[in-house]
Amino acid sequence: MGKKYPCMEVDLKKLTHNVKTILAMCNKKHIEVAAVTKVYCAKKPIVEAILEAGVAMVGDSRILNLKKLKDLNCKKMLLRIPMISEVYDVVRYSDCSLNSEIDTIEQLAKAAKKLNKIHNIILMVDLGDLREGVLINDVVSSVSKIVKLDNIKLIGIGTNVTCYGGVIPDSENLGKLTKLKIEIEKTFDLKLPVISGGNSSSLYMVINDTMPKEINQLRIGEAIVLGRETSFGKPVPNCYDDAFILSGEIVEIKSKPTLPTGTIGMDAFGHIPSFEDKGIRKRAIIALGRQDIRVEGITPLDNDISIFGASSDHLILDVTDSKKQLIVGSIVEFKIDYGCLLKAMTSPYVEKYYNN
Ligand SMILES: *Cc1c(COP(=O)(O)O)cnc(C)c1O
Repeated sequence: MGKKYPCMEVDLKKLTHNVKTILAMCNKKHIEVAAVTKVYCAKKPIVEAILEAGVAMVGDSRILNLKKLKDLNCKKMLLRIPMISEVYDVVRYSDCSLNSEIDTIEQLAKAAKKLNKIHNIILMVDLGDLREGVLINDVVSSVSKIVKLDNIKLIGIGTNVTCYGGVIPDSENLGKLTKLKIEIEKTFDLKLPVISGGNSSSLYMVINDTMPKEINQLRIGEAIVLGRETSFGKPVPNCYDDAFILSGEIVEIKSKPTLPTGTIGMDAFGHIPSFEDKGIRKRAIIALGRQDIRVEGITPLDNDISIFGASSDHLILDVTDSKKQLIVGSIVEFKIDYGCLLKAMTSPYVEKYYNN
């Protein structure tokens, strides 16, 4: 049977290698890794491959994804602040959730009591990135309310940076977590075993050895899947950046002018397009579009191919300079960035293949 296109080919061996490399680098610094599965919708074959590589905990932002993994033998962490409407499933399908709202934590406590479980939480602290988390000044009062709740166990504090505000983690902002940990442990006479120091943007501090030693957990997604740390976009040493390859099929290939003919109005997305006249070029249309991918996030593996643009389901390439004999039916391959990976893995129109 021939392959279906467009498709995402996932090289599980390369992923396993990346996981092992990142685990080794973190474990050497006594940091546990929660492997984040959301960008690939927690697809089972991929999760199984990363577990095989030795990961003990996975993290996902959606409880639906963790529910899919309920029979896999690993710890499961819910990354997105829970909705009150989902607290029962949060208690059922996650071992630990990241939290920032007392009202929600109270509802989690109620659900845990009904389900006869203890639910672990990590209190998120906003160190300036302005996504989730209580402000530093409100941490102690939040903890004082949490410790009064039955069936809830505060196992640590954590933070998330570089996702919204683009704030880069450093020993100064992560150092504040350390101080808070000490303050909470003293004030409430309890142990906080987990200090969760962020995502792939924190990995550079492991690499250059500047991570405060109290940070003992990272939640890593992009660095595993794309082999990149995300503070500076540098490759993670000894990791693959091509474990995910997107392929599409040519449905039309013709030489045409580069300037449209007629009066230019708006394109399908409400923009008024502009064009550079490059004369007659050989153009290939791929059956792949904005419903499947983030066009700005793809790079053809063939350096001699460039991208003209795309609509919902057509990707238009300039293949004039390609040395390959491209014809209708030929396959073109692309590397992808995080945003494109997210979209392609989520699109039901992109077939997924897992290669061992
Ligand atoms: C998505 C997410 C992560 C993982 O981020 P990467 O940049 O992919 O490593 C970690 N923590 C939280 C709370 C997240 O939402």
